[in-house]
Amino acid sequence: MLTPRPVIMLFRDDFRLADNPALNAAHASGQPVVCAFVHDPDTQRPGAIGWWLNQARSALAATLREQGGTLLEVEGTTPEAVPQLAKIFNAETVFWNRRYDPTGKAQDTQTKATLEAQGVCVHSLPGRLLHEPWTVQTGSGQPYKVFTAWWRAVRDMPPPGRCVSAPRTLTFAPWPKAAHALAEHAHTLPPHTLPEGANAAEQDWPCSEADAHDMLQEFIENNVARYSQERDRPDKDTTSRLSPYLRAGLISARQVWHAVEDAVQKHGHIAENAWTFLSELGWRDFAYTQLFYHPTLATENLRPEFNDMPWQNTQKLLHAWQQGQTGYPLVDAGMRQLYQTGWMHNRVRMVVASFLTKHLLTDWRKGEVWFHNRLVDADPAQNAMNWQWCAGTGIDASPWFRIFNPVGQSEKFDPTGAYIRTWVPELRHLPDKLIHTPWKADPALCRQIGLHLGKTYPHPIVDLKEARAVALAHYKNLPARQKED
Ligand SMILES: Cc1cc2nc3c(=O)[nH]c(=O)nc-3n(C[C@H](O)[C@H](O)[C@H](O)COP(=O)(O)OP(=O)(O)OC[C@H]3O[C@@H](n4cnc5c(N)ncnc54)[C@H](O)[C@@H]3O)c2cc1C
Repeated sequence: MLTPRPVIMLFRDDFRLADNPALNAAHASGQPVVCAFVHDPDTQRPGAIGWWLNQARSALAATLREQGGTLLEVEGTTPEAVPQLAKIFNAETVFWNRRYDPTGKAQDTQTKATLEAQGVCVHSLPGRLLHEPWTVQTGSGQPYKVFTAWWRAVRDMPPPGRCVSAPRTLTFAPWPKAAHALAEHAHTLPPHTLPEGANAAEQDWPCSEADAHDMLQEFIENNVARYSQERDRPDKDTTSRLSPYLRAGLISARQVWHAVEDAVQKHGHIAENAWTFLSELGWRDFAYTQLFYHPTLATENLRPEFNDMPWQNTQKLLHAWQQGQTGYPLVDAGMRQLYQTGWMHNRVRMVVASFLTKHLLTDWRKGEVWFHNRLVDADPAQNAMNWQWCAGTGIDASPWFRIFNPVGQSEKFDPTGAYIRTWVPELRHLPDKLIHTPWKADPALCRQIGLHLGKTYPHPIVDLKEARAVALAHYKNLPARQKED
């Protein structure tokens, strides 16, 4: 009897066995499977995200080992490495889950063409989002520009398809000699390390498919019922913290969706909070829709009038912001949380982004790049869309004149200063009322608690009122705006 030709399952940012449509289809082919990963210099990211994806890949490799298989890791660009693998294994088909970013899309188109020219079939499947970007459209067949209309359309659609379980037993294809040689080479590649100062990330983010599900269960059991009330409170920290797991594909958006919907079926009283949470998951899809239709989302203003914005880009101010040394406690707390753990609460992300772009008049792209380097959930669609949202340059964005006051935000969302005390310990002995405005503290009190403004903690780097006025004037003077007026 002829041995069946193997098929290749190509993993990238979908490091899970359950609800992995491409893996499931590879398994369903009934042919032996080669589980492969390409260390691709064109798509690899430095920084915390590089480290995190590395962890996720190692966790997947460990799970495959438990099943008697090995993740075949090779180095090269995807369009070259995958056809080479197909040749080495005489593979019949290659399976992957789709990508939506411009480099990923271009690579996959090229890889597919080469494979098909070699006589190899390609199956690309939807494994990353709730809905493919082109399936949610306006009546006239256009992509939605506004989230609320997009979300309404999604809620009118059938829910995302049911999840598929992990294949019970995978049959792994034997490796020819050439595959061993490629794998040996890949093992000599330098490891991805965490960026300087981000050591807390290791303990904060346990990394496996099982950990992702534990996180989801814990959120459903303890926190989803108060999501709407507490999601803006960094001191409570009760959001799901699933973003790194979704980013690495340790869990699918569909699994999260159905787990939450199932919880609503059992406990009707959580419905309202659960839907608020699901709408946030919707924002993730919406970000991918924007990236799909605007491949330059991370580099170009979606509203072209901002092309004339005279950003000041003062290096000293940018550095103070990056290091959490602005003199505004909530901003500094957020930037230090990011620096040390690779993650920041969403409300604080909004505050620090507004502060950088508006009070410090710094181009949002500088913030986007810094976040991309430091976040363990750094995502090409979500990061770029949110920066454009905060800066007012996006299509469905917070308007430029909506300038968050970092003191007001702090008093409202961290009323007792618990979040600030965690990340800015030099302020921890200030009374609740003063922790948002340390510069108002009596000098005698400062001496008593060892706080020396300008030495142990900076004076505010800008005057909020003045900076706000300058930001508004710059916007008003944009040539395109003046034509409108
Ligand atoms: C300037 C800025 C940059 C951001 N960069 C990223 C990024 O690189 N990667 C990233 O995953 N998120 C990003 N976000 C969105 C959001 O801050 C995080 O997804 C959220 O804080 C993650 O925490 P959580 O998992 O506890 O969220 P939850 O509140 O529990 O939400 C559940 C999931 O919904 C999605 N989600 C929530 N809020 C948003 C949002 N505003 N936009 C898109 N998706 C959302 C995330 O996948 C999240 O895991 C950014 C937000 C801002 C303001």
